[in-house]
Amino acid sequence: MEKFDVIVVGAGPAGSTAGYLLAQAGLNVLIVERGQTPGSKNVSGGLIYSKLAAQIFPEFWNSAPVERAITNHQLTMLSENASVGLDFRSQEAAQPPYNAFSVLRARFDPWLAKQAEDAGAALITGVTVDSLLVENGRVLGIQAGPDLIGADVVVVAEGTRSLLLKLAGLREEFHPHDVSLGVKEIIALPEKTIEERFQCTSDTGMAYTFVGHTCGIEGGGFLYTNKASLSLGIVVKIDALYQSKRQPHQVLDEFKSHPLVARLIDGGEVVEYSAQTVHRGGFHLMSKLYGDGYVVAGSAARLLLNNIMTLRGMDFAMISAAEAARAILAAREQQNYSATALAAYETNLKQTSIYQDWQTFKATYPLLENKRLFEVYPELACKVMENLFSPTTQPGSKALAVLREEMKGKVSMVDLVKDVYQISRGVVL
Ligand SMILES: Cc1cc2nc3c(=O)[nH]c(=O)nc-3n(C[C@H](O)[C@H](O)[C@H](O)COP(=O)(O)OP(=O)(O)OC[C@H]3O[C@@H](n4cnc5c(N)ncnc54)[C@H](O)[C@@H]3O)c2cc1C
Repeated sequence: MEKFDVIVVGAGPAGSTAGYLLAQAGLNVLIVERGQTPGSKNVSGGLIYSKLAAQIFPEFWNSAPVERAITNHQLTMLSENASVGLDFRSQEAAQPPYNAFSVLRARFDPWLAKQAEDAGAALITGVTVDSLLVENGRVLGIQAGPDLIGADVVVVAEGTRSLLLKLAGLREEFHPHDVSLGVKEIIALPEKTIEERFQCTSDTGMAYTFVGHTCGIEGGGFLYTNKASLSLGIVVKIDALYQSKRQPHQVLDEFKSHPLVARLIDGGEVVEYSAQTVHRGGFHLMSKLYGDGYVVAGSAARLLLNNIMTLRGMDFAMISAAEAARAILAAREQQNYSATALAAYETNLKQTSIYQDWQTFKATYPLLENKRLFEVYPELACKVMENLFSPTTQPGSKALAVLREEMKGKVSMVDLVKDVYQISRGVVL
């Protein structure tokens, strides 16, 4: 049986980062990717937060195919016909080390994989790993079609569905409650139109996060500006979607029909449609990260953070892969690839800022369960604003009086106070 020091399954951000770092350290690395090219099978909103990624690939923005530096973030609540939002703009985010870039995975992932190849890793694409070779609980390599290939360690970076680990009995069943479905379109628009419509320069761009107008299903929407296209999508809880008896494209169409969204995408042509599951994230959901002869990196281990303002999966994938690589290199020094030796991966990960971020935002997770946040409050916020900004022939009221009136039959004062407390604990206090 042919043998490598390390086999990496998947050439997404986790797999290519692990492959890059291990090959750079002189190991004999094979990366196996089922897509014809890296990124061809991947779905992502497309914002990569740059500061952690730059720890691994310094100043990657100079050579990577990034679309626009995001300098304007909008958090917008949508009611039936109106919207109310927070608008954050920063010129600092237009300069190194930036904050976030929009990327198209079909272009960005091949660049990442090329870094691994240039460092000496072998990459094969268009090949699906069918199973992990497991003997007495120890992973010894992979099977891909008729080929059996051995390795001291397998880095499982197969992404969110994590089927190989499931098949090998190496992970717990995922609960639908903890999974959302992301549906995304890429909408082509001329560069000039994007710059005029979103008030950005040729290098900078804008990111919208939307709450509301997803048929009352817990979740939200996003719209990011690329160079000559928009990435638009929704991420909704899968069990709530199922209960709603709606098809994902119906929820997306409803979202796109909102007057604000419709205006932003006006004249665009849908050139790509894709869907993928995405985990809720959080350290309490993190899968088992290592075992005898293997480590799990990126979204295969449910390593991501969704705190409503940001959905971070790519930088989490890269940092987890870097820590996994560090543990593999330490294990190699002892020529010991047992679970005990590879446990250093989890210890390392717990020292990183991504783990700290999970702790910091742990009170955000219950927010994503709160139906009122997605169904009732966007409507209320818009009503209050409408009253404040729209004098009529009738005497006006102050915000609290309008709020009380609009709350009738929708939410009690007790629930409102509880929710304000929950929101404060989630993102403020
Ligand atoms: C709608 C949506 C929007 C998102 N928006 C953002 C965002 O804006 N910013 C952000 O940071 N994150 C975002 N995420 C999350 C982000 O996409 C993931 O967390 C990230 O891609 C994880 O990287 P990864 O390398 O672990 O897995 P992936 O990127 O999924 O890569 C896994 C790779 O493994 C390959 N593979 C799988 N099985 C096999 C097999 N058996 N054999 C060979 N190859 C295999 C796949 O083809 C794929 O290339 C979003 C996700 C969704 C669904």
